[in-house]
Amino acid sequence: MSNELDIPQQTEFLIKLQDIDIQIYKMKAELDDRPGQIVLLKASLESKKLGVKKAEDNLKALQLEHKGKEVSLGSKESEIKKLEAQLYQIKTNKEYTAMINEIGSRKADNSLLEEEIINLMDTIDQAKKTLESEKEKFSQESKKTEEQTALVEKDISNIKSDIEQLNAKRQQIVPLLDGKLLAEYERILLGRDGQALARIVNGACGGCYMHMPSQVINEIKMKQAIIKCENCQRMLYITDEEDKA
Ligand SMILES: [Zn+2]
Repeated sequence: MSNELDIPQQTEFLIKLQDIDIQIYKMKAELDDRPGQIVLLKASLESKKLGVKKAEDNLKALQLEHKGKEVSLGSKESEIKKLEAQLYQIKTNKEYTAMINEIGSRKADNSLLEEEIINLMDTIDQAKKTLESEKEKFSQESKKTEEQTALVEKDISNIKSDIEQLNAKRQQIVPLLDGKLLAEYERILLGRDGQALARIVNGACGGCYMHMPSQVINEIKMKQAIIKCENCQRMLYITDEEDKA
């Protein structure tokens, strides 16, 4: 970097800029996270539709079974009526008795079928109640999801306005920095995920924790040029406290 620059002052500005940029990066990361949260909320709600679907399918199947049994009962009843009509044409006692037995046995079968139908109707009533309660559960879940989604959306707009404010603050510092130095800083910022500047902590780079040779520390202390970490390429600075330590 040029020796004409006021390095201590430029470093001050860089530190201020870095403070803001750390916050901006953190908020942008949070912002990136939010759409995924909404997708998860919607997927979770979608999975809760399954309960309603299952209850609907169950009810439909029962209603179909009920219809089938009613049709079957109807045709069996008309068969019995035909047999009863034939009774008058029968000539022998033996045939008559056989027919009476046949009719009796068919009627017994039908009353079993009637009982099944009655039981089935109870089951259908139960299935209807289950469907209603699944629908109610789902509507409550929908409401909850809507509220949660609205919260996340509000969060997104809050974060965006915070980022805007930080960018405005950033714009106040940017003109104070040397153009080349700023360009270099921003290049490192991009490559190092939001941290271009590193403080010397216990003789090591605060960005990558690599120990710095004392010669490098001395160069930083001289504040005549911006010194970069050989390992992570971040711009290094030292605080007065660390300097005295
Ligand atoms: Zn480093």
